[in-house]
Amino acid sequence: MNTTDTIQFYSDFNCPFCYALNERLISMGDTQRIQWRGIEHEASATSAVVTPDEKNQILNEVAVVRKRASEITVHAPPFRPNTRLVNQVAYHLREQDPKLASQFRTRVYRALWIDGKDISNPDFLKSLTAEVGLEFPSAELLKQFPAELLEWQKEWEGDIYKTRLPVMFSSLNKKPLLGFPTYDLLRHFFAGTELPIAPESLAACQLKPKQNVLLVGEFDPARCNLVELEAAYILINRPSAAAAEQWLKEQDCAPDVILIDYPSLTSEGLALCSRLKREHSYRHTSVLILLDGLNDEQEMAAFDAGAADVLFDLSNPKVAQARLDAQLRSKQSAAILDALAHLDYLTELPNRREFDRKLEDEWHRGCRKNEPLSIIIMDIDHFKLYNDHYGHSMGDDCLRQTAKAMGNAVHRRSDLLARYGGEEFSVVLPDTDSDGASRVANAIREAVEACAIPHEDSSAAKVVTISLGIATTVPTLEMMPDKLLEAADEALYTAKQQGRNRAELHPALRQGVHCTALN
Ligand code: GH3
Ligand code: MG
Ligand code: MG
Repeated sequence: MNTTDTIQFYSDFNCPFCYALNERLISMGDTQRIQWRGIEHEASATSAVVTPDEKNQILNEVAVVRKRASEITVHAPPFRPNTRLVNQVAYHLREQDPKLASQFRTRVYRALWIDGKDISNPDFLKSLTAEVGLEFPSAELLKQFPAELLEWQKEWEGDIYKTRLPVMFSSLNKKPLLGFPTYDLLRHFFAGTELPIAPESLAACQLKPKQNVLLVGEFDPARCNLVELEAAYILINRPSAAAAEQWLKEQDCAPDVILIDYPSLTSEGLALCSRLKREHSYRHTSVLILLDGLNDEQEMAAFDAGAADVLFDLSNPKVAQARLDAQLRSKQSAAILDALAHLDYLTELPNRREFDRKLEDEWHRGCRKNEPLSIIIMDIDHFKLYNDHYGHSMGDDCLRQTAKAMGNAVHRRSDLLARYGGEEFSVVLPDTDSDGASRVANAIREAVEACAIPHEDSSAAKVVTISLGIATTVPTLEMMPDKLLEAADEALYTAKQQGRNRAELHPALRQGVHCTALN
């Protein structure tokens, strides 16, 4: 073993896998070479509010630690505290005394993961610092966030570590060790020998992307102090409504919150708010309007424009963060409910309602752009016999597996695969002609067959297969999308008639007859 070799340990106190690895490193008695690299994997973490989803995630992670490291005591804390301050404190303590600072870090981990203490509380951190005989960093020192911590964060968010936690890196091993390793893997890692398994398969926490806040207008720093929020959110500032529109157009997804400064934009700001609130893609974006004082008329105008709330003073960064957090959380719950309403719980694919909405949207787009639109309806062959032979629970598994295989065969972002109902699935393929749709249909059919799920009683094959009906048209305002569905259904019926495990294109369309043939 090369004793001069140092090992960098990228870790976050609020990750139980990092806690467990820290315990393993201590028990191996090889902490001399370890260099702590504190990072934040969840910048918006807070002990103040815990949603049921967050609680569940913590419980799951703790269950994994218990399973993989039964020698380690771990209890799920009631929250996931923010670690910005504790990282800063640990950083400065290291400068006072590296050995005692390492003891401090272990105490922090155990305080959270055994005793459920809030390690974001400054007073609690002060008491831990005193316990190891060190001096708590001065307020002056803590005001400035250390540049080196930012550098570590940047390194960790780079390509090498796949934003997984914990990470260990040594110059002996050219590859990093990502995730929570077994003792065996740790020994290999320390010895610099080839790791026996792919490190990606180890349990790990992942970077939780920061939420985007778009600020529109020329914010007066006396009324709106957002500088300190840069650690918790990605802040984007555009000085005018037009510049904000341009930025929004360039994005793939909507920002989480938009804050519009009324004094610098007035009616332009309100117009932006009402325009965005009419668009489906911004339905989960909270638009907030910052007024420069109590004014009933302006307040009403903001709500009329669709604002989620009106704010007056964001000069205190703590209040500003609490306001933004409240909006982000309500947005998150709305998004979760919305997703559930449009999702099929068994396969986790979009459901029939989402399919209908997408078909309607794409129908109108096709009309405007004069572009072809295709759909495919798919049905599992002899699924009743499958259930009869293998049981309903295996039937459910089969539906899940089939859905997954279908999903892997549908590639374009604009396509939508849905569970249409029972053992039927459907795909909307915008801007796709019949040749393209046939290619997708065959790829889906082959993907399902390739799963090789045994189906002894099927007359179509010895494995689970599907039949597919394809219909293509150039939508017109005179015709309803239902016609396309009927055509795909007819084609599916033909596929079933002709022996199943095949895709059929609606004949009127195969010959290139225009959509009126469907009427
Ligand atoms: P065909 O090849 O003609 O499509 O025959 P089939 O047996 O697949 O068609 P049929 O419509 O007779 O049967 C569909 C079966 O799908 C019956 C139903 O119990 C089963 N099914 C529908 N939804 C679910 C589900 O969520 N879970 C399970 N396990 N079975 C389901
Ligand atoms: Mg059916
Ligand atoms: Mg069927």
